[in-house]
Amino acid sequence: MSGLLGATEIREIANRIGVNPTKKLGQNFVVDANTCRRIVKSADVAESDIALEIGPGLGSLTLALLEASSFVIAIEIDPRLAKELPATAERHGFEPANLKVITADAMNLEALDPAPTVLVANLPYNVSVPVLLRAFEKLPTLRTGVVMVQSEVADRLVAKPGTKSYGSPSVKASWWGTLISAGNVSRSIFWPIPNVDSSLVRFDRHEVPGDEALRLKTFALIDGAFAQRRKMLRGALSEHLGASASAIIESAGVDPTARGEALLLADFIKIAQAQ
Ligand code: SAM
Repeated sequence: MSGLLGATEIREIANRIGVNPTKKLGQNFVVDANTCRRIVKSADVAESDIALEIGPGLGSLTLALLEASSFVIAIEIDPRLAKELPATAERHGFEPANLKVITADAMNLEALDPAPTVLVANLPYNVSVPVLLRAFEKLPTLRTGVVMVQSEVADRLVAKPGTKSYGSPSVKASWWGTLISAGNVSRSIFWPIPNVDSSLVRFDRHEVPGDEALRLKTFALIDGAFAQRRKMLRGALSEHLGASASAIIESAGVDPTARGEALLLADFIKIAQAQ
């Protein structure tokens, strides 16, 4: 059998291995091969790439990735899905040696062998932001990627300062790369159909602005500022910076009466350096 997975086969596999999609694991499977090819294309996956997929499920995107890249690593938490994936790939004519399936929780992601260069995933929605930030942190070889997330989360990831969606995920993600919107995906291409809209986000890595110690200090300030986003920085960061919060923020060239939502990553870095 060649080609990608279709709706009938997806239900047939799920039935056969006893998988009844659960909300808890964010199991909404893509049943449209064109969408899978579109996602892989929008990530500019090349033959030389080592692709990482988080949450391969029944394999819809995995097969599209095997079509476009030389090697795919797939991390799946559900052992029934992880066990079935190599057989599905083989049945569709893909070389089993080009696929490595790891049964694990992507929240605990560590360095991988071989080191992936591109991330393509329809992320489990309840853990999409922490999993994405962890992938950026632990996998510095990831050059680019496209992930599908809940539209509201996509808005937050690509938001600019001063907007309602701007928050901790937007600022933190910009430590590692540039994130842009890569379009919306219709609800009708999922099984089961989710009750939220989905969107694609593309990232391209850039050089990180500092070492790990600076990142941790900066991220602690970001958490502080957005935990109380309606407060002025001098109040929101007083727990982190102590009684001299105002003076430290001012010495970094940032207005202590501003709110976190007005600051760029560069501003948080300047405050961390002034500490
Ligand atoms: N990629 C498939 C597709 O597009 O049809 C499935 C996507 S589905 C939205 C999310 C997948 O992630 C499910 O297969 C689910 O079992 C898996 N998953 C959920 N939580 C996970 C975690 N913490 N680590 C790894 N995989 C997870």
